[in-house]
Amino acid sequence: MIRLGAPLSWLLSLLFSVSVMATELASPEQLEKSLAGLNETLKSDFDLSLLPELRALRRDAQTIDALEIVAQTLLLEGQIRQQYGDYQQSLVLHNDALQLAVERQDLALMAQSRLAIARLEMDLERYNYAQRSLDDVHQLIDQLHNKAQATPYVAHQLLLAHRLWQGYLYVLLGSYHQAVAALHTEDLVVTGTPEPLDKLLLVRAWALLKLGRYQQAQPILNQVAQSNILIRNQRMRIRFNLLQSMAWLQAGAFQKTLDTAMPALMETFTTRFLEEQADLQFVLSNAYVQLGDYQQAHLYLKRYALSKDALNFQKRNNKLLQLESQYALATQKQQLSLLEKDNAIQAQEIFRHQQILENTRLAQQRGALLLILALALLGFLYWRWQNKRYLSLLEEQVKQRTAELDERNRRLQALSYSDSLTGLHNRHYFFSAADKLLAQSQDVSQNTIFCLIDIDHFKQINDSYGHATGDVVLQQFAEVVTSQLRAQDELVRWGGEEFLLVMPQTDMTTAQQVVERLHNAVAQYVFSHDDQPLSCTCSIGFAAYPLRLADAQLASWEQVLELADNCLYRAKNGGRNAWVGLKLPAQPLAMTFEQLQQNMETFTVTSTQLAG
Ligand code: GH3
Ligand code: MG
Ligand code: MG
Repeated sequence: MIRLGAPLSWLLSLLFSVSVMATELASPEQLEKSLAGLNETLKSDFDLSLLPELRALRRDAQTIDALEIVAQTLLLEGQIRQQYGDYQQSLVLHNDALQLAVERQDLALMAQSRLAIARLEMDLERYNYAQRSLDDVHQLIDQLHNKAQATPYVAHQLLLAHRLWQGYLYVLLGSYHQAVAALHTEDLVVTGTPEPLDKLLLVRAWALLKLGRYQQAQPILNQVAQSNILIRNQRMRIRFNLLQSMAWLQAGAFQKTLDTAMPALMETFTTRFLEEQADLQFVLSNAYVQLGDYQQAHLYLKRYALSKDALNFQKRNNKLLQLESQYALATQKQQLSLLEKDNAIQAQEIFRHQQILENTRLAQQRGALLLILALALLGFLYWRWQNKRYLSLLEEQVKQRTAELDERNRRLQALSYSDSLTGLHNRHYFFSAADKLLAQSQDVSQNTIFCLIDIDHFKQINDSYGHATGDVVLQQFAEVVTSQLRAQDELVRWGGEEFLLVMPQTDMTTAQQVVERLHNAVAQYVFSHDDQPLSCTCSIGFAAYPLRLADAQLASWEQVLELADNCLYRAKNGGRNAWVGLKLPAQPLAMTFEQLQQNMETFTVTSTQLAG
C-alpha cells in the first residue's frame, strides 16, 4: 500500500539525493544522514515504498564497506516487513543483521538485532523465544557497560528499549504486576527524542488499566497526551485513545468513553490494526451497556467478535508463516551445510585427483627412466655381444690364417730343407738340425759318424751323357746309398754331387764296415738312363764325433766335418774309388785341433782295395 502525503516530498528528495550519491562514491557521513532520515520517516509510518531507498542505501554502504549502516538498513527493512506481516523475510533480515554484528563483534548492534528478533517473536506469539532474546539483550547491555564499548547515549537507548519490550512482553503474558514493576522510569534521564519513553509510559498505563488502577494510569496518559508521537504515529495515537477510553470507562465517564473510542475506531478502519479495533469495539460495547443502550452494546459486541475472528485468523496465518519461515531457515541452513560438505568433498576429490595425477606423472617418469635404462642396457649388451662375436670371428680368422701360415711355413721350410732332385734333406736343413741330432752323442761310446761322400769324375758323366743323365745318376746314387742305411742314419745332399751321411750311435769299427758296404754297393750298381748302362764310383772320408782334444777340449761338429773332408781329400788324392777314416785312440788326444790336422796321417784308416 503506497500512501501519498507528507512523507512523499521528503521521499522524493531522498530518492534524488540517493541517486546523486550513487553516481559518485558516497561518504559514510552522507549515508548515515540518509539512514537517520529514513529512520525518522519510519517512526511515523512504516511505508513499503521506502524499501527501494533502503536497498539503494544498503548497496552504497556495501560498496564503501560501511557494515554498520548495512546492518541498520537490514533491521529497518525487517521492521517494515514485520509491520506488513512478512514475518518470514523479516526473520531472515534480522538474522542477517545479527550475523553481521557477531562477525564484527559489535555488542550494541547485536543487542539491537536481538531486540528486533524479540519483537518479531512477540508478534508470532512465541513468548519463550522472545524472553530468551530479551535475556540475551540484557546480558549484552551488561557487557557493554563493562567494556564501555558504546557511548552512554547508545547504552541508555538500549536499556530503555529493553525495558519497554520486557514490560510489553509481561503485559502480553498477563503478568501486569511484573509489567508495572518493570516499566519504571525514575532512573531514566530523558534526553533527545522521547518517543521510546512515551511508548514505555503507554505500556505502563496499559498494564495499570489491566489491573483496574485507572487513577494511576490517568496521570501517565495526561503526560503522554503532550507528546509529538501522537501526532506523528497513527498506531500510537489509536492506542493512546484506546487506553484513554478504557480509563474513562473504569472511571465511570461513559459518555467520554464513547467520545474518545468512537473516532479512534473510525481511524482503525483504514489501518491494519485489528487488535486495537477489537479492543475499541469491546470498550464501546461496555460503555453502551453502562449507558443502557443494549442494542448498540449488542452491535459492538458482535463487531468485536467479528474483529476477534479476523484477528485470530491473522494470528493463525502468522503462525503458519512463522512455521514456514522456520522451515525455510532450517532448510536454508541445511542446504548451506550440505553445500559446505559438498564443497569439502569436492575439494577433497580435487586434491585426490591431483595426487593421482601427480602419482601417475611420477610413475610415468619412473617408467620412462626404467625403459631408457633397460634400452641402454640392452643396447650395451647387444654391442658387447656383437663385439664379442666380431672378436671371436676375428680370432677364428686369425687362427685360420695362422694355421694357414704355419702350414705354408711348414711347407716352405720343408721345401727349403729338402732337395728337390733327390728328395733328401739339404745342407741348410742339417745346419738347423745338427745341434738336436748331436744332443744324445755326448757319450764317447755313443759316437756319431760324419761321413762325406763324393761321386768320382761326375763332370765326365755330365759331359758324356748330358746333364739330364747326370741328374738321374744323382737320384739313383741317393737311392743306392739310402738302401744301405739304418732308419736313424741321415743322408743329406751336401751340394752338387757331394753327400753327407750322419750315423748316430755308431762306433768306428761299425762305421768302417758300413762305409765299405756302401762303397761296394755304389761300385757294383748299374746306373741307367734311356737304357744306357753306366757305372760310377765314389770317394768317402769320415770322422767320429765327439772328439776329445788336449786340456779336455771338445772339437766342434764343424771341426769334425772339416776332418772328414780332409779324409775325403786324401781318398781323392789317393786315386779315388776309396774311403779314408780318422780312427783315434780311446784315450783323449794330447794335442790341439791344429796339431791333429797336421798329424792326420798317424790316425787314418783306409779302404783295402784302393782304386788303381
Ligand atoms: P772328382 O772325381 O775330382 O770329384 O771329379 P768330378 O768331375 O766329379 O768333380 P768336379 O768338381 O770337377 O765336377 C763336378 C761336376 O758336377 C760339375 C757340375 O757340373 C756337376 N754337377 C753338380 N751338380 C749337378 C747336378 O745337379 N746335376 C748334374 N747333371 N750335374 C751336376
Ligand atoms: Mg766328384
Ligand atoms: Mg765334388
